[in-house]
This record gives sequence, structure tokens and C-alpha cells, in this order.
Amino acid sequence: MRKYVIMGVQGSGKGTQAKMLADRFDLVHMSVGDIFRWHVQNHTKIGAQVRRRVDAGELVGDDLVESVVQDRLRGHDWNYGFVVDGFPRNARQAEFFLEGFDIDGVINLELATEEVERRVLSRRICSQCGLDYNLFAHRPEVEDTCDVCQGALVARADDNTEALARRLADYYSKTQPVLELFERKEFVLNVDAAKPREEIFATVCAGLGLPNTQ
Ligand code: AMP
Repeated sequence: MRKYVIMGVQGSGKGTQAKMLADRFDLVHMSVGDIFRWHVQNHTKIGAQVRRRVDAGELVGDDLVESVVQDRLRGHDWNYGFVVDGFPRNARQAEFFLEGFDIDGVINLELATEEVERRVLSRRICSQCGLDYNLFAHRPEVEDTCDVCQGALVARADDNTEALARRLADYYSKTQPVLELFERKEFVLNVDAAKPREEIFATVCAGLGLPNTQ
């Protein structure tokens, strides 16, 4: 059983690395942000509750976040383990998490703020399948169209300068201290997130002692 948390500033590639780890090692990938975006897109009650905050780049309340995490992790048959991204984001969430689960490793993706801005403002996601694109590094073959499902590519509502400033402020004031807490208790692997995704993945596998073979 492998249980990992991926931390890192916005645009550092948490989702990408989490998906790669989940695919390669048969882990359940849990992204609280993806879960909330799904609810917003599908007009659920939770979607109505969180929409304004998610779009503005503000953190959703801890009670709701914890119940979503609880449902996802307790309700799922994760035989081989899980990889969590975008959670925990503050001290209370970290306490809640560590009370219920032991963790094998925390991956921290490090990225300078100017690169964060460049990446986040050029990010596009497929409105149908959720695949990530980037207008510099990973352009779609046909403009504004997903290579895989032909869905329309859109910018996330919170990928704009104003919301990003809010998200970064929260990251440095609330989430960074969680990392310091983990550093005292758990194994933290710091990785340079400016490198190409395959190189980062190889570093992560080596650091966690996982076999990086197909
Ligand atoms: P992300 O995709 O991780 O950037 O998350 C997108 C948005 O979902 C965040 O800006 C918050 O509004 C909400 N969100 C995701 N994870 C959390 C969390 N752990 N705590 C509070 N809000 C969250």
C-alpha cells in the first residue's frame, strides 16, 4: 500500500505528476480541486455551494473539504494506495488527514513565482475530459480543441491574475506551514518543478524508491 501527498504552488504540475503516479502504480488519484470543478460543471448542490469561492480562487470551508475527502478515501476500494493533490491546504486539514491516514511520502514540487504566473495564465483545460494543456509547453494540435476527445479548451475561471494573487497568498500563508509540519513528521521529497515532466517523474520515482519501468 502506497500513500502519497503531492504539494506545491499553483501550476507546479501536481495534477500531472499525481496522474502519472496513479497510472503507473495503480493508485487512486484524488484532487479536491477536480472534485469541486466536477460539481460546479454538473450543477450539483455542492457545486452551488462552492462555485463562487472556487471561481474567485478562495479556499472552500474546511468542513465541506473534509467531508469530500472522507467520502472519496473511505468510499473507495484503493487496494494499492492513493495519491492526494491539493490537500491538505492548511493546518486544520493536515491534522484531520494525519488522524485518519498514515502517509508514506510527501512530494513537494518547487517553482519560482514568475514561472507560476507564466504557466497558470497560459493553462487551458478540456471542458469535456479535463485534460490539461499549456499554450507554451503543451499546445493542442488544433487550436482550442482537445487532441483526445475534441472537447473545447477553456481557461479555468480562477486562472486569472487577480484570483492567482489570492491563491498564492493563501499558499504561502496557510499551505507552506503544512509543509513545515510534514517536514518534522513525514518524509518530504523536494523536487525542482521547472524540469520536463518525465524528468520530474523519474526523480519522484527514484526519491520514493519506486521502480520507474513500464
Ligand atoms: P486546485 O485545482 O487544487 O487549484 O483547487 C481549485 C480550487 O478548489 C481552490 O482554489 C479552492 O477554491 C478549492 N480547493 C481545492 N482544494 C482545496 C482544499 N484542500 N481546501 C480548500 N479549498 C480547496
